[in-house]
Amino acid sequence: MTIISSTIGFPRIGEKREVKKALESFWKKAIPLEELLAVNNEAEKLAWSLQADAGINLVGLDGTLYDQVLDWIFALGLAPARFSSLSGYEQYFAMARGVPGIEALDMSKFFDTNYHYLVPELTSTVSPKPDFSIFFDKIKRGQSTIGKEKAVPIIIGPNTLVGLAKPADASAPFDHDAAIKALLPAYTQLLTELKGMGVPEAQLHEPILATTDAAKLKAEFTSSYGELSKVGLPINLVTYYDDIGDAYEWAVKLPVQAVSLDFLGVPGSALGNETAALIEKHGFPSDKRLGAGVVDGRSVFADGDFPSKLVAALQAKGIKDISVQSSVSLQHLPYNAELETALPKELQSRLAFAKQKVAEIAAAAKASPASSGVSLSKCQPPLNDPKEQIAENLFNRSQEFKSRRGSQIKTVEFPTTTIGSFPQTAELRRARLQHKKGQMSEQDYEKVINDYIKYSNDEQERIGLDVFVHGEPERTDMVEYFGVKLEGFAFTENGWVQSYGSRYVRPPIIYGDVSRTGPITVKEFKYAQSLTQKPVKGMLTGPVTILNWSFPRKDLSRSAQAYQLALALREEVDDLQKAGCRVIQVDEPALREGLPLKRARWESYLSWAVRAFRLSTVVADPSTQVVTHLCYSEFADILPAIDGLDADVLTIENSRSGDEMLRALAKYGYSRDIGAGVYDVHSPVVPPVDFIEKKIKTFLDVGLLGGNKNLLWVNPDCGLKTREWSQVLPSLENMVAAAKKLRQAA
Ligand code: GLN
Ligand code: ZN
Repeated sequence: MTIISSTIGFPRIGEKREVKKALESFWKKAIPLEELLAVNNEAEKLAWSLQADAGINLVGLDGTLYDQVLDWIFALGLAPARFSSLSGYEQYFAMARGVPGIEALDMSKFFDTNYHYLVPELTSTVSPKPDFSIFFDKIKRGQSTIGKEKAVPIIIGPNTLVGLAKPADASAPFDHDAAIKALLPAYTQLLTELKGMGVPEAQLHEPILATTDAAKLKAEFTSSYGELSKVGLPINLVTYYDDIGDAYEWAVKLPVQAVSLDFLGVPGSALGNETAALIEKHGFPSDKRLGAGVVDGRSVFADGDFPSKLVAALQAKGIKDISVQSSVSLQHLPYNAELETALPKELQSRLAFAKQKVAEIAAAAKASPASSGVSLSKCQPPLNDPKEQIAENLFNRSQEFKSRRGSQIKTVEFPTTTIGSFPQTAELRRARLQHKKGQMSEQDYEKVINDYIKYSNDEQERIGLDVFVHGEPERTDMVEYFGVKLEGFAFTENGWVQSYGSRYVRPPIIYGDVSRTGPITVKEFKYAQSLTQKPVKGMLTGPVTILNWSFPRKDLSRSAQAYQLALALREEVDDLQKAGCRVIQVDEPALREGLPLKRARWESYLSWAVRAFRLSTVVADPSTQVVTHLCYSEFADILPAIDGLDADVLTIENSRSGDEMLRALAKYGYSRDIGAGVYDVHSPVVPPVDFIEKKIKTFLDVGLLGGNKNLLWVNPDCGLKTREWSQVLPSLENMVAAAKKLRQAA
């Protein structure tokens, strides 16, 4: 029996975000490259030593200047042709951020996490030109820091790298199998040289195995790992973000020395994760080490005795060679919970960030488990799901859309509005900070906010919009703002998690039952509505988005937490309508991104997500118009769920996509008001009137809502908080001008 410990990834920024700060200084040309590299090397060294000192036997040498997928695009020499005039770090950062005249690589969400990676652009006949020198230098630094026997390279496996790619040439067929084969000589060279450097093994990360289609990848994996195993360097095939489902039976038989599995999946996911059941059912090969991902790498809460119990159960099952590790890379967690000084005591003691998770891994590996009587199948993560006793009528509005629409606000043809936020000016940010630090009085702060609301009201009046917003000047962030005002949330000082590159977010932590202590948005709404005869939209963030962009509790299912949030927001919806609000928008930009990796689990997620949205909104009287904003427009495949939200108006991003989503909505027969974005808010360019006119005409061309112009809204793609007033005002003027022209033409 051997039980060791291993890590498969760690935060890369440094404990105090040193790397982020150095990166930004480097980009501003305030420090030279050498200094950036020195800061990064030091942060890596500290992170690796921390893990080795905690007693980890095999330390994954994590570290990147921007993104791990980009690192492999770069090291394998896969930069698209447009970057060929550049080399070295210049090329690396150009792929990340673009340079004048050369567009950056696309960015996309990494599996079901909130991390974003840079998308490789490949062809079937890709010809890598590898240069591993920077990577090998890192391995050597790792070896001299923690010793050769502990320093393990982390590599993104060829199947996942190709699986994450988009075709470089959209018009040519992209054959994954051929692209993987074309990459294998470079991977073979890499493993051969690493073997020469004396590494104990190499981690090949293949999270693609946790996706829906993994079962179909058997042939590709069998041939690529058959080839790579010939090098003779032990390989740890690392999978995560969920169990590997139907791929389990063949994946554990691949010619590798260790297979690492995630035993947890998404925290609080109602169905849990099947890894333990797969092992129970099919066993685990006796000639391999099992990388047991039993410490939850996606939760900030300590794991208690779950990891050691599970390891004991695995031993009882006859698995002899085990390495205890985290379920996923610890890159998704903040660095160190000890840095928090202001959290409630009862929470502080339950927290475990990356540093504490490493200690948990080491401890679980050392615990000499009592191996009798522990059943693997009983080893579920602790979750008490009190069956929510919420009466069914609380999920339904009292009238159907068709009968209630007539009693709601009257709309002109092509009614115009915006999505909520107006520019977050430097003045606003300064005032918010001063107010938070106690350097600005409540009254002075309220005046800054009210002046902003008044200014935006007057501009909306002048421009002639039909439904107004107050502009969200009081909000730093659409989730944080509500979290701060709700019971059950905590906010960290240093709980930064990488979103991409130098961008970090600090997700709130849900640690208790969520409830509302008083009105959240009513004061600003009332003031805004007092200034105008036009309807002002109430503006709320939906329960699913608040949940998906926070760290949820671990002892309660995600659905139960979503319902708690929904009940709190429901009170707010009711208070808004009692204060005279006729239109209430509930934003759910994270609804789509919360979809589980495996399609088979979509239905269960969507069913509670949709019910949570309804629970929060159906308290609206028939005459109150409920709007939702979903941001991205990729949900042609979940239209019944979107319809099931029973919102009166659906607003989506649309300007950058073709008309696929509009066509899909038309084909589906979607029959409630639609506000498809008519211009891109990500660009500083002011859209001309005729551009917007054309966009609006496509609504009619695709036959949306049978051409009912009173239900076809005209609005930008999303909120305007990242833009300048000097861009926003002419853009909205043009938008209203376009709508008016089309009204007259009608
Ligand atoms: N109401 C929010 C805003 O306008 C919506 C933001 C979003 O969709 N992400 O900023
Ligand atoms: Zn949006």
